[in-house]
Amino acid sequence: MIKRILVCGAGGFIGSHLVNKLVEEGFYVRGVDLKEPEWSKSKAQEFMLADLRETDQAAEALSGDFDHVYQLAADMGGMGFIHSAETEIMRNSMLINLNVIDQAARNGVEKYFLASSVCVYRDMQIGESELSEIDAYPANPDNEYGWEKLYAERAVLAYGREFGISTRIARFQNCYGPEGTWLGGREKAPAALCRKIAESTNGHIEAWGDGTAVRSFIFVDDLVTGIRKLMESDIEEPTNIGTREYVSVQELVQIVANVADKKIEPQWISGPVGVQSRNFSNDVIESTGFKPIYSLAAGLAITYPWIEEQLLTFNS
Ligand code: NAD
Repeated sequence: MIKRILVCGAGGFIGSHLVNKLVEEGFYVRGVDLKEPEWSKSKAQEFMLADLRETDQAAEALSGDFDHVYQLAADMGGMGFIHSAETEIMRNSMLINLNVIDQAARNGVEKYFLASSVCVYRDMQIGESELSEIDAYPANPDNEYGWEKLYAERAVLAYGREFGISTRIARFQNCYGPEGTWLGGREKAPAALCRKIAESTNGHIEAWGDGTAVRSFIFVDDLVTGIRKLMESDIEEPTNIGTREYVSVQELVQIVANVADKKIEPQWISGPVGVQSRNFSNDVIESTGFKPIYSLAAGLAITYPWIEEQLLTFNS
């Protein structure tokens, strides 16, 4: 029998890529979101518009005998958004997460996936040794988005224990790729830098911080592969999904500039930078056979032209 899959957040960046992969794999998929994907039509067999903060709408979205649920819906954005919308994140994402797991339990869902984040970890100094998943405790996330994700993880684990739902929880690294938000204040660093560099005619761009913060980024196709590997594994505990390639923000600018074939001199300005560094282990997800394929340069070589094209269309 073909498995019936529900994807919440199916109109978003990662959710829309995940839906397409699941359909290609032969699953029957219902996508749910406040909106349909912005850039290309969802391949989901059904797409339902619903506000998952509302219990009755979440109940309707979850009805229909779904075997597996992937919960990616969230009030979400890059550092600028995370620091300016604390109460929206706490309220909206928490309501969504509680409604979806509660309705999953009521509907007898067999397996439940939650999109969490490496924002659950504390700020780190550059050069500190890797944190593994259990090092999320004692908890000290850098922002409210991270606290909400920790709470959501705990809610899913608690429902899993009480209702016998098999749980999969992925702590995503920063993700980038085509069809991700690139404008409007919710975009993340790779997309924002691609846009700024595509716009720059004189080699100057403004970038937040001083360029020394260290980050790692995963290309969306690799992340979706990691999600599927985790879902097919028997790992019930929260699991990091990312790459082992770390760069400073200054190096990230340079990689995008190389892809764009432009000489770029960033002007570093004050802004919400987030943590100084984050260094976490990928041993658990790699034990499933997962191995990211795209280097940052290879992923940006696909992402930059897409953002450049969006910009041309936007400005025309
Ligand atoms: P996104 O903003 O593109 O997708 C989230 C989707 O949730 C959006 O389409 C949005 O419309 C939907 N949504 C928001 N409120 C809703 C509501 N009330 N009812 C129904 N749908 C609602 O974000 P994304 O980058 O695709 O992230 C997906 C998940 O992965 C999120 O849970 C996010 O926190 C997590 N995550 C993402 C990253 C990243 O780098 N993109 C990193 C770590 C974790």
